[in-house]
Amino acid sequence: MNLAVLGAQWGDEGKGKIVDLLTPHFDIVARCQGGHNAGHTVYVNGVKFVLRLIPSGILHGRVTCVIGNGVVVDPLALFAEIDELAAHGVAAANRLVVSDKAHLILPYHRDLDLLAEARRGERKIGTTSRGIGPAYEDKIARRGIRVADLADPAGLERHVRDNVTARNRLVHDSTMDWRPVYEALLQQSARLQPLVRDVSLMLSEAMRAGRSILFEGAQGTLLDIDHGTYPYVTSSNASIGGVCTGLGIGPRAIGAVLGVVKAYTTRVGEGPLPTELTGEMGDRLRDSGNEYGAVTGRPRRCGWYDAVAARYGVRINGLDAVALTKLDVLDGLERVEICTAYRCGSRTLQEFPSDIAQLAACDPVYESWPGWTTPTRGVRRFTDLPDNARRYVARLEEVTGVPAAIVSTGSERNDTILRNEILNLQISSFDKLRMP
Ligand code: GDP
Repeated sequence: MNLAVLGAQWGDEGKGKIVDLLTPHFDIVARCQGGHNAGHTVYVNGVKFVLRLIPSGILHGRVTCVIGNGVVVDPLALFAEIDELAAHGVAAANRLVVSDKAHLILPYHRDLDLLAEARRGERKIGTTSRGIGPAYEDKIARRGIRVADLADPAGLERHVRDNVTARNRLVHDSTMDWRPVYEALLQQSARLQPLVRDVSLMLSEAMRAGRSILFEGAQGTLLDIDHGTYPYVTSSNASIGGVCTGLGIGPRAIGAVLGVVKAYTTRVGEGPLPTELTGEMGDRLRDSGNEYGAVTGRPRRCGWYDAVAARYGVRINGLDAVALTKLDVLDGLERVEICTAYRCGSRTLQEFPSDIAQLAACDPVYESWPGWTTPTRGVRRFTDLPDNARRYVARLEEVTGVPAAIVSTGSERNDTILRNEILNLQISSFDKLRMP
């Protein structure tokens, strides 16, 4: 059975580790959206890998990794990542497939990204300025350049010339020359071509041959372009719909959906965050959770677990279960709080508001739970967790509405509690799930 693993909060939930952990049970790992702004950090035997574009499944020798049409690809970033992996002894190129329909990020997209963010001033979104938003804009405006276009140099030349000319008109005093952009693309094309495939067809054939696929989401549900806290969102569908459109598969190909949630809440960049803690406790969570962006180094905003937001993630994605990460970050706290509802004026809201202005005006309604002094870090059996940590997890399951099939207690692969009874029930392909 195929499984989708998606972020169910504002991203950075620890999807990289969970995908890495589950990968041995799949033949293919496929990414469907986002670009190289999504930094997944995976530690294997003490070695840190930060993967931005290539699915983290690449760290497992046998697995084929797919970059779907919904992803925007900066060829230079892709090559840098392949080279970085090679330097650590991971041969990526022969197990990596890139969709012919994926759109390319070009140098002018990066310039436009910086410019747009500067123009927003006070209303900035907090983008990573890697050209991802402008590349998606070109895609929707139907002037994007796709991987397949590299195979037709004459058409590509026209296309690049038109796009750079249009960009020069847009940017005051800009005289960007299209030729170097085109020539660089021709060079990159030679290296990219061997990886290019019709991904939809490849996945369909693989499924017919009995191969299993893990669909790897990037960012998180609340950053989804449609269902997130617009406009403080990413430029793609980070929720379940993105899996179908970003790879060219039907919904029935997705056997189960696992959401990744942190035992607390974080978000990077601007936008409302109802449970945000700005004082000492926020700093405490940020430091013990090492909540700094894997790609940008930006400090993340931190707060208590927001069950209203998590329930929304369950609804939008149809989650079967969650993987609860970073429980260990709460070790040693006297009390832990869970936001179970929002207070908005005289009303109590159980559901995540659709209107961002209303969300910004919401105050969290908290339940306070006793913390635990015995550390959970590195614990591998649910029954070995301190009583209060177990109670906390059980309460999160209740207020979120789905079980926690995996509980992560550290950044290493093995620092994980696999609750096979839940995995087997909800996600039937995991009958043989064992720690690697
Ligand atoms: P992703 O984008 O969702 O993969 O998340 P990131 O990689 O940006 O952030 C997750 C960070 O948390 C990484 O540095 C992981 O190594 C780390 N991490 C993942 N799970 C755990 C956990 O259970 N405990 C701790 N302490 N760190 C974790």
